[in-house]
Amino acid sequence: MRALVKAKAERGIWMEDRPVPEIGPEDVLVKVHKTGICGTDIHIYNWDEWAQKTVPVPMITGHEYAGEIAAIGAEVRNLRIGQRVSGEGHVVGMNSRASRAGKFHLDPNTKGIGVNLPGAFAEFVKIPAFNIIPLPDSIDDEMGAILDPLGNAVHTALAFNIVGEDVLVTGAGPIGIMGAAVARHVGARHVVITDVNPERLALAAEVADVVPVNVASEDLRSVMDRLGMKEGFDVGLEMSGAPAALDQMIDHMVMGGRIALLGVPSRPFIFDLGKIVFRMITLRGIYGREMFETWHKMMAMLESGLDVRKVITRRMPAADYAKAFELAAGGEKGKIVLEW
Ligand code: ZN
Repeated sequence: MRALVKAKAERGIWMEDRPVPEIGPEDVLVKVHKTGICGTDIHIYNWDEWAQKTVPVPMITGHEYAGEIAAIGAEVRNLRIGQRVSGEGHVVGMNSRASRAGKFHLDPNTKGIGVNLPGAFAEFVKIPAFNIIPLPDSIDDEMGAILDPLGNAVHTALAFNIVGEDVLVTGAGPIGIMGAAVARHVGARHVVITDVNPERLALAAEVADVVPVNVASEDLRSVMDRLGMKEGFDVGLEMSGAPAALDQMIDHMVMGGRIALLGVPSRPFIFDLGKIVFRMITLRGIYGREMFETWHKMMAMLESGLDVRKVITRRMPAADYAKAFELAAGGEKGKIVLEW
């Protein structure tokens, strides 16, 4: 089968011919139809510090996918060949305290499809049946291929109750934009999204009824005045990993404000913890998706009118992978979906 492989410990990715994975009794073989290129894949492509210490080479990459079941293991029940599916990319252990309590997403022994297990940028991918998410007819393959990042957005946006609240999203990458759209969908009052890239902000405004703010040229305080907000944002969704964005968020929160953090800083940084203490701000880290509550909620929202399809800005055949990865690494404003 064709597969996109991180074949060498250097920048790049290579299309290679690989054997179709052999499945065990509790696995499912998925024939991949569409895949999303993620920031994680770009770290691996660029072979940055994180990738070097995390990803063993050679490794088939990719973890955002939709396809159909091509084969099922002998022990697998309730799934059938030909069924349309996506899947959770975190493969968890079953022996930790968290897993045994049903909090699978908190398992400390998690491995990642396309990171340290063979991935989905291939004609076939092997997934534990436990991780399979059957897709309803209402969710097509390209939406199925971006459920993983939409799940990050939903997990972050629903970390705190945002109904009737004013929400600040920092970082207008695809996940930030989708997080802002979710905040809107579930009933936040004002949703302001910040970035310094005008193309990304324009895309945010296209995807959802949110207020885009370019913090390079516009002051958040004056935006708040314009919206009639007196004290500050009730809830923050930090999606950029940029130290300046977190500082700015903290400075524009209400007393007792709540911040969910999904953006990963590239290195440790200094920030004013005193402000967190004196203003009783809650900081909460977000990782992956809740297994499997986030999946349930996001698919229910997609079926009740949440529409984030416009966040996909390019659809390309997998054969054009070299161009697709250069575009993604070059800061493409939206999501790129590869067709297999
Ligand atoms: Zn991803």
